[in-house]
Amino acid sequence: MNRDKRFFVICLIAATIILLGAVVLRVAMDGRLGMLEDKTFSVPVVTLFPTSLPNQPNRITPTVTLVPVPEGGLEYIVESGDTLTGIALRFGVNMQEIVRVNQIANIEMIDKGMRLVIPRQAVLTFAPTPSRTPNGRALTYTVLENDTLSDIASQYHVSVDALMSANGITDPNMLQIGQILVIPSADGSNVPAPTVIATYPFSAMEGNVALAYPLVTQGAGFRVHYQRGSLAEHEINDVTQFVPIALAHINTTLSVSFTQMLDVYLADTLFAPPDQALGGKADSANKRLFVQYSSQGRAWRHYLLAHELTHVVAWNTYGAPASAMLSEGLAVYVAERFLLEESNMTVLQMCRAWQSADALPDVASPSLALHGHAASLDAYFAAGCFVDYLVNHFGMDAVKKNYSQPALQISGKNVVELARQSRIDLAQMGKSITEPPLTVAIVVAYNKLRNDYKTLWSEAGASRQVDKAKLRELDKNWLTMLLKK
Ligand SMILES: [Zn+2]
Repeated sequence: MNRDKRFFVICLIAATIILLGAVVLRVAMDGRLGMLEDKTFSVPVVTLFPTSLPNQPNRITPTVTLVPVPEGGLEYIVESGDTLTGIALRFGVNMQEIVRVNQIANIEMIDKGMRLVIPRQAVLTFAPTPSRTPNGRALTYTVLENDTLSDIASQYHVSVDALMSANGITDPNMLQIGQILVIPSADGSNVPAPTVIATYPFSAMEGNVALAYPLVTQGAGFRVHYQRGSLAEHEINDVTQFVPIALAHINTTLSVSFTQMLDVYLADTLFAPPDQALGGKADSANKRLFVQYSSQGRAWRHYLLAHELTHVVAWNTYGAPASAMLSEGLAVYVAERFLLEESNMTVLQMCRAWQSADALPDVASPSLALHGHAASLDAYFAAGCFVDYLVNHFGMDAVKKNYSQPALQISGKNVVELARQSRIDLAQMGKSITEPPLTVAIVVAYNKLRNDYKTLWSEAGASRQVDKAKLRELDKNWLTMLLKK
């Protein structure tokens, strides 16, 4: 190596050291250090500086709370000044996981506006991370119909108190539609929040459900778990009064006496993908049930609760069901009583409507689609009408005997023959249930609504965002569709 080349190399090394030093200093000054475990971050840099920086004027003092990642993860939009380390720290997940899930090639190249999926992961413990400098721009939110303060607060990961004081609100129940709220920073100061996490908080049905449904109310023989600021919290007295009534009705109808401890989980938001279309789910072996406690109407909420309760009671008394159709049909048949609290159409009237439009699903078909009520109401109700027929002609005992049998067999007839008989029965009954007018209109209305829901669910699954105003509008249409109008 000649002298010129050697000089060039020395200069290059010196420049590199200076550059590294500048980067180190910049990172430290910005206060985004602290993820000691992260191997991809240069180790000497991390060990050179303390994780807690002394307070500096014009900076927010470091009290950043860990933002919990809901079941199934969330989406985060990168802001200017963000680093992967900082993002990983804020959500308490391993940076490598974020890199892997988002297929990031260069960890230093994350651009403002980039959408990152933050995966759900066991929460890691870190040293407290310094908060970021506010960007000075006020973040606002426009209040929608049925919004609650806690709903908005949880959406932006701020406390209700902070939200109230930032907006001078004294009565949390006096929100106006269209009212513009300033979203304070997560530490409760009135400084505008620098971070927008506009991700829909999906509800969980597995994993750490105690965390996902933090509020618990104990009833006689059951516990209700629900979310802060939710409709369930608002109606908790109604729920605790309703569950024993529903259980008594279920026990009587099934001729059983189920009294075991139950855990009822009431969700305020759609279930996390891929279950966003489900109105509820029974985890019968563990005696727990999850119910979408939504804006589809009080009678519908009661119906769904009683429906899932029926699954749990039947499973634990009649045995594990052998046929999804019979199991759903029984739950529809038993719970329908509560649907009628709000002068909804009866299940039989709905079946008649589908039958007159030649659109009643065949319950004997092995491919009968049962993908949640809103997605397949016709199939659920067809199964309910079928069980109605079985109970009226052969008694509940016949249903009970067949509940865990692989093939339905009553009075020497198989499911195909019984289904055929039940359709004839329904057609004859039609004349006596012609009020309200059972036209194809209801079928058309339901098909349109189902498509609208499907679009919303698939968008929610893909983007992890939900147009809440649109969802409420669909729920309102659902309510109208079922009502005798
Ligand atoms: Zn069901």
